[in-house]
Amino acid sequence: MIKNFFKENDIKYQEDVSLKKYNTYRIDIKAKYIVFPQNKDQLLKILKHLKQNKIKYLVLGNGSNIILTMDYYDGVIIKLDNLNNINIQGQEIEVEAGCFLPQLAKQISDYNLSGLEFASGIPGQIGASIAMNAGAYNKDMASIVTSVTVINPHLQEQTFFPKDLKFKYRSSFLKENEDYIVIKATLKLEKGNKEEIISLMQDRQKRRLASQPLEYPNSGSVFRNPPDNYAGFLIENCHLKNYHINDAYISDKHANFIINKGKATGKDIVNLITYIQKKVKEKYNIELILEQKIIK
Ligand SMILES: Cc1cc2nc3c(=O)[nH]c(=O)nc-3n(C[C@H](O)[C@H](O)[C@H](O)COP(=O)(O)OP(=O)(O)OC[C@H]3O[C@@H](n4cnc5c(N)ncnc54)[C@H](O)[C@@H]3O)c2cc1C
Repeated sequence: MIKNFFKENDIKYQEDVSLKKYNTYRIDIKAKYIVFPQNKDQLLKILKHLKQNKIKYLVLGNGSNIILTMDYYDGVIIKLDNLNNINIQGQEIEVEAGCFLPQLAKQISDYNLSGLEFASGIPGQIGASIAMNAGAYNKDMASIVTSVTVINPHLQEQTFFPKDLKFKYRSSFLKENEDYIVIKATLKLEKGNKEEIISLMQDRQKRRLASQPLEYPNSGSVFRNPPDNYAGFLIENCHLKNYHINDAYISDKHANFIINKGKATGKDIVNLITYIQKKVKEKYNIELILEQKIIK
């Protein structure tokens, strides 16, 4: 019995829990279990048990890049929030996968370290953000990552260096190989000035507030920008702003955002995505590529 395993190993868990607060679209489905490993060893123990017993699991960061489409998650959600240690050595920092990017960006500004300003408005954890090579303002995680330690599919620790990570626009080897779980990374930053770093982050936050529908649940940009173009521009020019399927709306503030105006389901969002892709393809012959991850 999995509950006995959790109890015997002092693993924090919840049963039949709503995932609404664990995904930024605020999709309200339940999971059978959610666990919060305290450290790497506990994580390994959990993974070993789940694999041995063929129990389905999903590692979740802050849930800001996913669309939950099932009615119920009959497995174990693993949240890495407690793997959140930070070790700063000069311009190099070692961070665990559960660190929250906006908080980290602010925290390192106290050490006059610059390089993470671009990430201060990206509401994700370091682990997932490295895997998908999150970025903004022409910078991305690839520009600061010097090594990444993962648990590989054989449940061994393995360290990757940038040359092996195959970083590209919003993707990497780790995104394409989902059985690798990031547990920590080292980042190389530059010396900066705290006031200038804070001012840049505040300026960018203002720009985000003015241009993005942050007043509604959303998961950031829905589609990648096609080469030399902008997904939002194409969608807007198909006159799709405000188009909706049930409570899933195309934002009228930024057409590359889908917002949940109440009780949108993952299926509503995916149907809306398919509709947008069809309309943009018809008008521009461009295939919009989804940036968010559909969880089935
Ligand atoms: C308001 C808003 C603004 C945003 N702006 C940006 C932006 O400017 N640029 C940008 O790139 N993104 C942006 N995003 C999207 C999102 O925040 C990023 O993609 C972020 O990196 C996702 O991190 P997460 O922890 O929420 O990942 P999650 O959504 O929890 O997970 C995403 C995927 O990563 C996997 N995963 C989770 N943890 C790990 C791990 N430790 N190791 C390996 N795989 C893992 C999950 O299984 C899932 O498949 C925005 C989102 C919102 C809501």
